[in-house]
Amino acid sequence: MLRGQVDVDSERCKGCGLCIDACPKDVLDFSGDFNSDGYNYVEFANPEECVGCGFCGMVCPDMALTVYSFEEEEVS
Ligand code: SF4
Ligand code: SF4
Repeated sequence: MLRGQVDVDSERCKGCGLCIDACPKDVLDFSGDFNSDGYNYVEFANPEECVGCGFCGMVCPDMALTVYSFEEEEVS
């Protein structure tokens, strides 16, 4: 099963929300905190739902997201 991890560079994020809209799994959300430029940056809010598709990183105009994807063993 493909899983993902997204690191957010909060100082690069401008809070445009494009990545939130692009995510098919509702993983990202606004953090409610503000960076040094006053932007409400996003956070990796629902990590267990991330499938590592990379859509969020592709749409970010500020290269604020780094996406990692990996295979996770199924435990049955
Ligand atoms: S990698 Fe895909 S599933 Fe994970 S946060 Fe980004 S858009 Fe959502
Ligand atoms: S697309 Fe990039 S700049 Fe816009 S909210 Fe997401 S991480 Fe921040």
